[in-house]
Amino acid sequence: MRFWYRVRAGYRHLRVLRAVTRVFGAQYVRSRDRIEIDITYACNLRCLNCNRSITQAPDKMHMSRAMIQDFVAESIARGKRWSTIRILGGEPTMHPECIRILEDVLQYKRWHPACQVQLVTNGNGKGVQAMLKKIPSGIEIENSAKTGNLQPSFGPFNLAPADDPAYRHADYRNGCAVMSECGMALTPLGYYPCAVAGGIDRIEGNRLGHAHLPADDDDMLEAAERLCRLCGHFREGHFIPEHLRPPTLEQKLSPTWVGLYQRWREDKKARRMDDASRQTEYQLRFQRMPVAPVREQEVES
Ligand code: SF4
Ligand code: SF4
Repeated sequence: MRFWYRVRAGYRHLRVLRAVTRVFGAQYVRSRDRIEIDITYACNLRCLNCNRSITQAPDKMHMSRAMIQDFVAESIARGKRWSTIRILGGEPTMHPECIRILEDVLQYKRWHPACQVQLVTNGNGKGVQAMLKKIPSGIEIENSAKTGNLQPSFGPFNLAPADDPAYRHADYRNGCAVMSECGMALTPLGYYPCAVAGGIDRIEGNRLGHAHLPADDDDMLEAAERLCRLCGHFREGHFIPEHLRPPTLEQKLSPTWVGLYQRWREDKKARRMDDASRQTEYQLRFQRMPVAPVREQEVES
């Protein structure tokens, strides 16, 4: 088993080279039928190596309910049949409108009953546990039952491959298994090839999120190219079982990440914007789509 993963690591390193990618195309493409929705960046934990930068750059930014309603309306209007919609964050139960958002997503499930709708929670603390008791039926709960801020199974998210000479010939449009297996993403900043990429853009501030659901022939390569270069998950590229990797007991930051978090903190302070006004500013970028009602004949039996 260990040998097999060593072989895969060697293959990955060759596969992401620009010359190899030119011939074979990207190793991974973003999902067309799975989506992860980060409804908030608020969280009650501060895990080391959080790949949404909740610990490194805490921010109580929430997705507006209007964005969810637009997502539902746009999905139905375009006949998108998601196999899985995962609601997460941050800690999703900390969104002040969490239950209403879940009810909005259930409107989609009524149109496409085969869709699995999952809420992904850390399950930590009385407040979160009390909220979990209110989750409407039809939503599956995936509870990681975290008990603290140390997550040995997390990879070193903040070691940017762009800072590593071993990746100087890499083509970052290759992405990694996250964008095909976990799914593409909707975050408070728009649509991305994966939710981790959206979290990176929150810090880097390039505003690469799409305001509307991308067309199925859009691989979102520009976002992958610009955001995967900062993501520690790009190195492995695929899931490695916990028992085959060393536990991560500290949070390491490569130089680009040190600079990005520093700039993010200064920027937030300089503008003297509180979390609510930051959120408004982000959301003003997106033009509302008209919310189409679900018509009876569109509901699958
Ligand atoms: S519980 Fe999840 S979102 Fe919250 S800090 Fe930990 S890893 Fe990040
Ligand atoms: S390398 Fe990171 S940002 Fe890129 S697809 Fe994978 S998880 Fe997402």
